[in-house]
Amino acid sequence: MEEIEIIKPDDWHVHFRDNEILKAVVPETTRHFARSIIMPNLIPPILNGNDALQYRKRIEQAIPKGVNFKPFMTVYLTENTNQNDLKESYKNGLIFAVKLYPAGATTNSDSGVKNLKKIMPLLETMTEVGLPLLIHGEVTDKGVDIFDREKIFIDQKLDFICKKLPELKITLEHITTKDATKYIKEGNKNLAASITPHHLALNRNAIFVGGIRPHYYCLPILKRENHRQALLKVAISGNKKFFLGTDTAPHFVHDKESDCGCAGVFNATYCLPILAQIFDNFDSINNLESFVSKNGALHYRLKKNKEKIKLIKSNKEIIFKKFIKIGNKQIKIFNPEFPVYWHIIN
Ligand SMILES: [Zn+2]
Repeated sequence: MEEIEIIKPDDWHVHFRDNEILKAVVPETTRHFARSIIMPNLIPPILNGNDALQYRKRIEQAIPKGVNFKPFMTVYLTENTNQNDLKESYKNGLIFAVKLYPAGATTNSDSGVKNLKKIMPLLETMTEVGLPLLIHGEVTDKGVDIFDREKIFIDQKLDFICKKLPELKITLEHITTKDATKYIKEGNKNLAASITPHHLALNRNAIFVGGIRPHYYCLPILKRENHRQALLKVAISGNKKFFLGTDTAPHFVHDKESDCGCAGVFNATYCLPILAQIFDNFDSINNLESFVSKNGALHYRLKKNKEKIKLIKSNKEIIFKKFIKIGNKQIKIFNPEFPVYWHIIN
């Protein structure tokens, strides 16, 4: 038996949705994580400080009693976002960061940004006050191959923002390519990236093993094995510019197993055991804490959590629960389909 104790982790990219889904999935995150950045892509989206405040209250009601968990709220950036509201909401602690979705990039991103130039004044204000920008980094041009969208975004958009505003704190979220790891490593000190457990666990073959596998479909889409290897390399190295953001994204099974299935993987439940197994497989369990508990806090200039959690490696595999049930509907829990021997205790 092997045992490790680590600082309680944070998840820097979470979709809680709303209403019945929110109530069902919040405890899956709060069980193991101390803090999370909450994505604003509801319908309608979280557009200002007041929306964020109301949404935070609904989240807080869903946190189980006695559990210490802090949701950090975000605003959905549009070409019409109000500059003063951003400034004030940040000053008053209503929002923690601003999320940039290129229009049409993923689930509920229709009101996203079409023209970067239009939001540059907002980004300048954010730079002045120290408000972080979180980016879904994919171009949405239909002519660009889905597997190339991240790289082209970096070349055409991210590089432009980083050069114009090197002092802006930026997180390139859920990176999926070797190109992204390289750009982040070489980029300025205010630029960092989050990585999901599913992009570390699987390559794009997983979507097509024995038939079409809608529960492995997410955006940005899984990539080739050499890209997964590049993500693994930076994650297990402990490099401070890379940290966990699960992008856990609940959808009902019937919405994913459909003629036009939704993108998203619900991975909150077994995220940490899966990551521990992956790090252990590469003899890097000692760097797990940096990736899940330290590097993100450092990037966002936050203190590390005081609480700790313990993980134990036993000779028994985890038996994955398959679903979260909500009435007669269900959400499929991510299972990477390799054996996981690490268990969280307490
Ligand atoms: Zn997301």
